[in-house]
Amino acid sequence: MTAMIAIIGLGNMGGGMAGNLVRNGYAVRAFDLSEDALAKAEAAGCLRAASTADAVSGADAVVTMLPAGGHVEAVYTGDVFAAAAKGALLLDCSTIDVATARRVHEAAAARGFDMVDAPVSGGIAAAGGGTLTFMVGGSDTAFERATPILSAMGKAVIHAGGAGAGQSAKICNNMLLGATMIATCEAFAMAQKLGLDPQTFYDIASVSSGNSWSMTSYCPLPGIGPTTPADNDYQGGFAAALMLKDLKLAVQAAQSVDASIPMGNAAEALYQAFANSGQGGRDFSAIIKMLG
Ligand code: NAD
Repeated sequence: MTAMIAIIGLGNMGGGMAGNLVRNGYAVRAFDLSEDALAKAEAAGCLRAASTADAVSGADAVVTMLPAGGHVEAVYTGDVFAAAAKGALLLDCSTIDVATARRVHEAAAARGFDMVDAPVSGGIAAAGGGTLTFMVGGSDTAFERATPILSAMGKAVIHAGGAGAGQSAKICNNMLLGATMIATCEAFAMAQKLGLDPQTFYDIASVSSGNSWSMTSYCPLPGIGPTTPADNDYQGGFAAALMLKDLKLAVQAAQSVDASIPMGNAAEALYQAFANSGQGGRDFSAIIKMLG
């Protein structure tokens, strides 16, 4: 019998992920508060559900891809726990704070559900193309059960540890990304002021110790390195507002464990200033415009 998956949250990311579940042979029942998002999911082969409860009842697994922790907690404690079948596997792929992720895990376990937190690396194109990386927190059993479903939507599925470990890995990774992007932007801006040609600086730094993913895979200057959002006037890609969201989660998590993150704090303050200047919708590499 075809496994039935409920997916809740069909936005930029969840919409593409739902399509990949369908393409991989799952029967998918989809729900979103937005009529537009529901219509797109239906066109991609999903069955339209009337509510979260309708989507999850009788499903073998429930995937959520929601904006933030408050939405995730409300959806699980509101409808999913009440309506999901006994034994259904719960997979939250949203990026949320570690504390909420752990709380929802605990509540799920108390009701006998296996659950994973499985946030993703990769943006809208990777969600549509089925090439996301999933960082997974949960028990060995939950991870094993989740792997085939996540593999249908991604190219890599990595077990990070117990409850909340996926979210911990995600925010540490994105804190590193935010800080290295700003450092890369600073270096390019300063190199130019010192009279260096940016292509020459790239040729040197990309094979030297200043090399990073932000430089060689996502160069913040147009015409240098591979094609990136910088080549498209910083449209598309990963919005600065989403980077700011992840940096705020990192700062919150650091406070909860008394971790010292001066670079993370600086990155959060700089992306906050960038967003305040009305640039939050641009790709996060556009912060180079504010530096130099
Ligand atoms: P989005 O805002 O495009 O989609 C979220 C969807 O959830 C919306 O369609 C909204 O209507 C729906 N929703 C909200 N509350 C709901 C509820 N109670 N019931 C049903 N549906 C509800 O957001 P997105 O860009 O798809 O991001 C989703 C998650 O993925 C976020 O946590 C984000 O941080 C993370 N993420 C996004 C990207 C990216 O590039 N967009 C990359 C990595 C991770």
